Amino acid sequence: MTIREIVTVPAPVLRRKARKVTDFGDELQELVEDMIETMREAPGVGLAAPQVGEPIQLIVVEYAEPEENEEESEKQKPPRLYVMVNPEITRFSEEKEVGTEGCLSIPGFAGNVNRPVEITIRGLNRRGQPMRVKAKDWLARIFQHEIDHLEGVLFTDLADKVWKLEEGEAPPLD
Ligand code: ZN
Repeated sequence: MTIREIVTVPAPVLRRKARKVTDFGDELQELVEDMIETMREAPGVGLAAPQVGEPIQLIVVEYAEPEENEEESEKQKPPRLYVMVNPEITRFSEEKEVGTEGCLSIPGFAGNVNRPVEITIRGLNRRGQPMRVKAKDWLARIFQHEIDHLEGVLFTDLADKVWKLEEGEAPPLD
């Protein structure tokens, strides 16, 4: 496994529409492993293939959802890893919420983005089998952010407010 270099703006690959994956062979499997490592090392909660210079429809997401039980609200569930190929959002909730996002490809900036709170995503797993994810709150936001990357869309395109982070200030979400 290799930590890949994360490309940053204004790299043209970040603005291209990523192509669909049709080959689930060794090359894809290696890229999946590298992207997981790269996301964890960054650290980030999601990464899209164009961010490591590969213009294909592949994302990885790893996020620990907060406990739903209020007494347990301080604790977090163990992080869950998602690898999704050719993802497509098939349902958006009408309800939207503004949240603060950052991006590993736009270091040092954050912005407020209004997004649907709940979504359903259909796609394929790393072996090419169909999968479906229902996501809400932060997990839904992460998926939308990563899937936007596959369209060449960055959070700064959607944010109604973007600002520079202070030196050493951690981004709210990658
Ligand atoms: Zn990003």
